[in-house]
This record gives sequence, C-alpha cells and structure tokens, in this order.
Amino acid sequence: MKILVTGGAGFIGSNLVKRLLEKGHEINVLDNLLRGNKLDKESFKNITFFKGDVRDANLVLTASKGCDAIYHFAAVLGVDIVADQPIETMDVEVIGTRNVVEAASINNIKYLLYASTSGIYSHSAILKSALSEDVLVDPRTSYAMAKRYNEIYLAAHHDERGLNVISLRFFNVYGHNQDNRMVVPRFFEQAINNEPITVYGNGAQTRDFTYIDDTIDACVSLLGINGSHIINIANEEEWTIKDLAENIKKITDSTSPINYIDAPKKRYDYEVERRVGSSSQLMKIVGYKPDVNLLEGLHKIYYINHSSHVLNKI
Ligand code: UDP
Repeated sequence: MKILVTGGAGFIGSNLVKRLLEKGHEINVLDNLLRGNKLDKESFKNITFFKGDVRDANLVLTASKGCDAIYHFAAVLGVDIVADQPIETMDVEVIGTRNVVEAASINNIKYLLYASTSGIYSHSAILKSALSEDVLVDPRTSYAMAKRYNEIYLAAHHDERGLNVISLRFFNVYGHNQDNRMVVPRFFEQAINNEPITVYGNGAQTRDFTYIDDTIDACVSLLGINGSHIINIANEEEWTIKDLAENIKKITDSTSPINYIDAPKKRYDYEVERRVGSSSQLMKIVGYKPDVNLLEGLHKIYYINHSSHVLNKI
C-alpha cells in the first residue's frame, strides 16, 4: 500500500514508519518537526517527506495523493505542554483531522487510523475491572475532549461516506528514544543522572504501560480492516508510579532518592488515580494483544540505551 503517516517523525510515528517500510509499503510522512526528527537515517532515505502542519489543508491533500491509507498521528502531546496550550491542542486536533478527512475523501483513500487516547476515560477508570471500549467515557480536558470529538466525527464520517476508520486508544506507550514529556523517559533520565526521581503525590496512582513494539504490532495489524472501530491498545497490567520509580532506580543501579512531591497545579485536571485497559477487542479482531510486561520493557530500554552509549564511545 501507499500510506501517509502524519506525525511520522514523532516517537510512535517514526517506529510505525520503520515497520511499514520493512513490510514493503510506500510511505509519505507529514510532520512539522517541532520536536525534532526521530526517524532514523535509513527510514528517512526511503520515504517522501512533507514538512509542515496538518492544519494546512493543501499540504495534507498533496501529501496524501495516491495513498490507500492514512495513519493520522500528528498531535500536540504531553500533559504539561497540552495544559499550557489548550487552544493550539484543540486547533491541531479539530482542523488537522478535518483536513485529513477531507483529503481522504478527495483522494479516494480507503482507510484512516487515528491516534486517540486512553485519557478520555478519565475518572471512569476508577472501576474495578479493566476499561473496555464500551465504558462511558468522561473527558474533562481540552485534549481528551478533542480526541473524543474526533472519534465521534470519524464514526459519523464512516456512516455518511463509507471511509473505514479506526480510533486507537493508546495506553501510556513507552520505549527507547521517547522524550521526557512522559514519565518513563523522565524517570530514566533522573535515575541515570543520579538526580531525585520526582514522583507526584504518594505514587499510588496507576497506569497501564504499553511497550512501543507491541503498540506498533497492533497498529500495523489493524491496517486494512473495514468498518468503524474504537480499539484499546493496552498491556492489561496495572502498575503504581511508585513501583515504576523503584524499578527504574533498580535497573539503572542509581543512587537517586525517590522524592514524593506535589504535582504541578496545571496537571490536576489530567491526573487520574487509576488506569488499566482491556485489549480483548483488539484480540478479537486481529488475534493478538500486547504482551511485553513493564519490567521486560524497562530492561529493553536500558539495554538499548546502554549499548548505544558504549557503541558511541568506541
Ligand atoms: N508522573 C510523576 N512524575 C513525573 C511525571 C509524571 O509522578 O515527573 C506521574 C503522573 O502524575 C501520572 C503518571 O506519572 O500519574 C503518568 O504521567 P504522564 O505525564 O507520562 O502520562 P499521563 O498518564 O498522565 O497522561
């Protein structure tokens, strides 16, 4: 297939592009490179790159010409950044997705896979069992509202115009080469530098961490599915942030103290006590679900970082 990946130079996008190239697809990437370029040299050589913003309708139209599918992953991301820029976040989501849908319609594109978020469950996550897609969502932030708006918009577009759509609800994706907007790379950086590891609150809040390779397996296996779907991509393991901090400290053999501090005020609306997902819908559709457990994933990151550090010194 010929495929456009918006946000293809970001953490999830660049890993997706690499895998799609390995599978023999022809890839276009549209990215504004605001946070740099995470595509490796080999991938970059083998794609057609469009530098710019998804809010630019003409650019999205050009970048998706002749494509069979679009992975729409461009977004403003990271709790601190989203909280500082709620208008920009909403604009990129709403205008960007509108442009992608319009381009899909004009260019006769069959499949659209959209990066949504487990953040839209918000406080529904207090439920005792793992979250499934039919749980009543509870978006309370601009970011979560915009993601939910787009899920509904895409489902409506499927019903009205027949575009095959999948909204992917990612659960705390982590892996090598992620930047420290997210908690896992942030704790690694603090631990490796033997600086205090900053746990917000008492660290009893939980998250479901999904390893990047598993996430990409899921994204790729969902390509070419007809219909309209909302699908969790979750590891189904619930970890406290305290345990995350302790394990990263142990793996890195760090002398960092673990400091329990108040979360920045702007994070309050985003914080949820509990988040764990069910991937049974994913399993039902593609016969697969994420299976790298958090400890294994953390070791992989440390090993990759450590070996590239050693290689750089040779
Ligand atoms: N967190 C933390 N210390 C940090 C950054 C994050 O304790 O320096 C916690 C945060 O309170 C949240 C979890 O780690 O409970 C995940 O945060 P992140 O921003 O990575 O993603 P979120 O799930 O909040 O979207």
